[in-house]
Amino acid sequence: MKVLITGASGFLGSFLCERFLSEEYEVIGIDNFITSHIKNVSHLLENKNFKFIELDVCDLDINILRDTKVDIILHFASPASPVDYYKYKIETMLVNSVGTKRLLDIALKYNSRFVLASTSEIYGDPLVHPQNENYWGNVNPIGPRSVYDEAKRFAEALSMAYYRTYNLDIRIIRIFNTYGPRMRINDGRVVSNFIVQALKGQRLTVYGDGNQTRSFCYVDDLIEGIYRFSTYENLKGEVINLGNPIEFKVIELANLVMEFIPSARGVEFLPPLEDDPRQRRPDISKAKLLLNWEPKISIKEGLKLTINYFKKELEL
Ligand code: UDP
Repeated sequence: MKVLITGASGFLGSFLCERFLSEEYEVIGIDNFITSHIKNVSHLLENKNFKFIELDVCDLDINILRDTKVDIILHFASPASPVDYYKYKIETMLVNSVGTKRLLDIALKYNSRFVLASTSEIYGDPLVHPQNENYWGNVNPIGPRSVYDEAKRFAEALSMAYYRTYNLDIRIIRIFNTYGPRMRINDGRVVSNFIVQALKGQRLTVYGDGNQTRSFCYVDDLIEGIYRFSTYENLKGEVINLGNPIEFKVIELANLVMEFIPSARGVEFLPPLEDDPRQRRPDISKAKLLLNWEPKISIKEGLKLTINYFKKELEL
């Protein structure tokens, strides 16, 4: 069996390459390194079942695979941290629109299963809490986050159009906040920022009053959910939330990180970000039912593992 994974050297993509290789799949990975690093997959390059192509998904030629059929395509290429998509606005919109179209056409050519990495961002600043898959969201189409939110909403709509038009095996995963090793030091997301700031003996930057909430899933749990959703039979056209349903205020997360890293120098409150969602928590009943999946790793365990990773990265 063969899989094509875009965003292969990214945070999630690289773990997916590893997971599919360990399950005896042949893996073709594509990445243009816009927000990722080759070091995440350098240990896989010697593996005879792994092929890596440096390429922007928007430039993907329909004949790139020649006549090798791929069984599953996982589209995980996209800037995903707010800091990244504020910087790469147009690239974010294009990889999720043009890039998604190119991959769907390849899926159509080979009748491959197509798994889209979507996001909890499609719910915007949600008016329904927790969010289940039937909620349509509350998104500002012209705000600073729209480059990501609307691009992913378009990618979802385009994928469903291919499902309805061609009966392709389309599957959509709405991924909630995830953390763990291989996040970049300057990724800009809250978990990596707080850990790196604390380890450097700096103050933790809290945007706004810190009462906004998120639910944080450790990467190993998420990868298990993605693997099941991508490989189980009879899930054509399904949309699923994957994330940890335990909700924290950002200020609570800051306090937890400071508990683990005594070198932290307290908290610095900065102005709130524009359109920052006030709350976010996945309803994962559907994942439990279809995949028998739920996260197993507690925030304390996950933070410890992630802190150890960043200590090594910072050579502390
Ligand atoms: N945040 C923060 N300090 C930081 C980075 C983020 O207070 O240094 C807040 C941010 O305003 C948001 C939450 O943490 O409310 C999660 O932000 P992140 O960028 O990790 O992900 P998002 O869920 O916004 O995509």
